[in-house]
Amino acid sequence: MKEIKIFHNALKDVSALASKIKENQKKIIGYLCSYAPEELIYAAGFHPMRLFSSKSDIILAENHLQTYCCSLVRGILEDSLSGRLDFLDGTVFPHTCDSIQRLSDIWRMQGRYEFFADVILPAKLNTQSARTYMVDVLTRFKKDLEAAINREITDADLQKSIKKFNLIRSNLSKIYALQSKKPGIIKGADLYAIVKGSMIMDKDEVANLLPVIVNNLEKTDAPETKGKRIVLTGSICDSPDIYSVIETAGGIIVGDDLCTGQRWFEGLTLEDDAPLVAIAERYMGRMICPAKHSSPTARGENIVSLARKNKAAGVVFLLLKFCDPHAFDYPYLKEFLEKEGIKTLLIEIDDQQQNLGQLSTRFETFIHYI
Ligand code: SF4
Ligand code: SF4
Repeated sequence: MKEIKIFHNALKDVSALASKIKENQKKIIGYLCSYAPEELIYAAGFHPMRLFSSKSDIILAENHLQTYCCSLVRGILEDSLSGRLDFLDGTVFPHTCDSIQRLSDIWRMQGRYEFFADVILPAKLNTQSARTYMVDVLTRFKKDLEAAINREITDADLQKSIKKFNLIRSNLSKIYALQSKKPGIIKGADLYAIVKGSMIMDKDEVANLLPVIVNNLEKTDAPETKGKRIVLTGSICDSPDIYSVIETAGGIIVGDDLCTGQRWFEGLTLEDDAPLVAIAERYMGRMICPAKHSSPTARGENIVSLARKNKAAGVVFLLLKFCDPHAFDYPYLKEFLEKEGIKTLLIEIDDQQQNLGQLSTRFETFIHYI
């Protein structure tokens, strides 16, 4: 499908993509985490772009971050220090895991880009006081953006932005629902490219392309070949090869609890509410990641419901090496899922190294067993 190819092409050269965005007079604000309030950044007239590591060798970042920080954070710092992110006009750091918080300190001290903001969101997301505090934090962030652009961000700006993101998110949800209903209708690597592309490409272009993809997939029949239905969980998966290896081993990805997947686009923002309250509500209601808290069993319940809803034969934990929040959650989640009769596999991944041969054997064994 030519629309899917556009997403794949966009991922090949992020600098070229950034130059194209800048041709339209848009400044680019980078972010590293799906708790970054993109609707606000977009309403301010900036282009919000999720940052990923270019996976180059870590040389300059060694002086700032220890080897036991995750490869995502180290890789992005390396890209910044070596000038690969010079297209950025600013960055936003939500207050989440320790690695992102430490990176935020280093980033601020380096002062390489014009705009910088820490968005200190609450850690607990299920209380009335957290809700009030969250709206307060978003209001402060809005003021930071207004100071940078020297104009007010109106409710109308925010509502327009919310509509755009709702359009993108609802279409991504439809693509996932179609894949779950007609497994194999779309390749995992295409799914990866569409979600990642939606995070970095021009939002108008994404909002135009996604409904066309949905429409085409709706008209496509489910493929004959069947595979074992798999749900992925973890922080990020920035490797299309992992999706391909799972498919070659006989699996089909039918859902995920990933930052580069449903966790990013799940849930719509109410369009007729006070915009900042509506944005806060979405964060409060969305599936949490281990850097946030709602109840001791919230994540377990969510993954079980994701697995059941998608009739998954198994759940694969993709654990980015040295990602402490996800590593701490893993033992309880594994136990929680297995008590519910859901089989699990743990795979440790690293942005810098990938042993696909070994991964392939492990996936084959797991998929044969479930
Ligand atoms: S796992 Fe949580 S803290 Fe980490 S990038 Fe995703 S949302 Fe942010
Ligand atoms: S992968 Fe883990 S440690 Fe790294 S930024 Fe995401 S949540 Fe933080």
